[in-house]
Amino acid sequence: MAKGMNSEYKKMIDKQYRDLMKHCQSHMEQVEKELPEPRENLHELLEKRGVSRRDFVKWTSAMTVALMLPPIFKPLVAKAAENFSRLPVVWLHFAECTGCSEAFLRASYPNVDDILLETISLEYHETLMAASGDQAEACLEKAIHDFEGKFICVIEGALPRGLNGQYLRIGPKGKTGIEIAKEVTSKAGAVICIGSCSAFGNIQSANPNPTDSVSISKALGISTVNIAGCPPNAVNFTGTLLHYLMFGGLPALDGLGRPIWAYGKRIHDYCERRPHYDASEFVEEWGDAGALKGWCLYKVGCKGPYTYANCGKVRFNDGISWPIMAGHGCIGCTEPDFWDTMAPLEKPLPDKSLGFTDATADKVGIALTAATAAGIAVHAAASVIRHRNDDRVNKPEDLQEEKHD
Ligand code: SF4
Repeated sequence: MAKGMNSEYKKMIDKQYRDLMKHCQSHMEQVEKELPEPRENLHELLEKRGVSRRDFVKWTSAMTVALMLPPIFKPLVAKAAENFSRLPVVWLHFAECTGCSEAFLRASYPNVDDILLETISLEYHETLMAASGDQAEACLEKAIHDFEGKFICVIEGALPRGLNGQYLRIGPKGKTGIEIAKEVTSKAGAVICIGSCSAFGNIQSANPNPTDSVSISKALGISTVNIAGCPPNAVNFTGTLLHYLMFGGLPALDGLGRPIWAYGKRIHDYCERRPHYDASEFVEEWGDAGALKGWCLYKVGCKGPYTYANCGKVRFNDGISWPIMAGHGCIGCTEPDFWDTMAPLEKPLPDKSLGFTDATADKVGIALTAATAAGIAVHAAASVIRHRNDDRVNKPEDLQEEKHD
């Protein structure tokens, strides 16, 4: 009986994947018919930039897994990458530092994700385009007109609502950020907020928020896909665009608009220092023996237990490292209001004594994730007692002696 049920279940899953593949294939054919030819031959570009065919195949496998698709989708992921530069993108900048664009442009040894972002069909990007003033405005109007309903509107930066939006005026006609955002997003196929400023307001909306800055979704009352992070990882952006190219829709999102495939787990779940957390081995102060041994950074303020993102898995700086690997705790930058809720950065959150220790992103979000502080803080406090008793945290000089021995 159970065996029969299993084979029925397997048949049902197989059918679902076959249907999904058909949908993906027909959507990609549509994309090839409707959108302009790719501006770049991806394989020639990869070769020029030193990325081998083998690296591309490896990347395709990794991206298929990351997007939670079975291996039969690998050729379709590769095809979507080849068509990446067909997708028209209008990139708007509001109240921000341009760090997200910078982060994507600064790869010294670019991987496939970085190269894909180079090929993106940018119809409008204020800080990268040569045009300015009226000419830039004309580019924006043309892009919106030519690709109405098909282009992706990427937004970097929060929107100030104070003084009727007049804290932010852009372009030769002095339109407010809110006016531009309304105009462009209403014609877009999808709106992707890149970085925590557009996704959640970030530092601009931190207390006391004199300009009344808020996220795009709050300012305009629309749904957005939020690629959170300060800055976010290029992989999470390219993966979301690939998903859109493949299926004509956006990936499943958590309650805060973040793609679940990238933000479905906590930093704490992917962390290489996690065994030290579980063994109650904590850095007690910067530069102590625990720090030298790579122990858990919770007691020096790591907010990894309350933060949903895949930083530890995908890493930064050409995949070389990420903050916790470099020795600094997570500051919680993929969570809304982290400047207010996660501060002070060098200290753990206070024990809120809310009595449960773990939950998924969808169930909790940041407000309730703070409740995990209860279990986490108790664990850390217990470790102080234990460490006091068994004196397991050596002083730096003890460590030197150990090394010497
Ligand atoms: S508290 Fe921070 S450093 Fe420690 S295991 Fe969790 S994420 Fe890693």
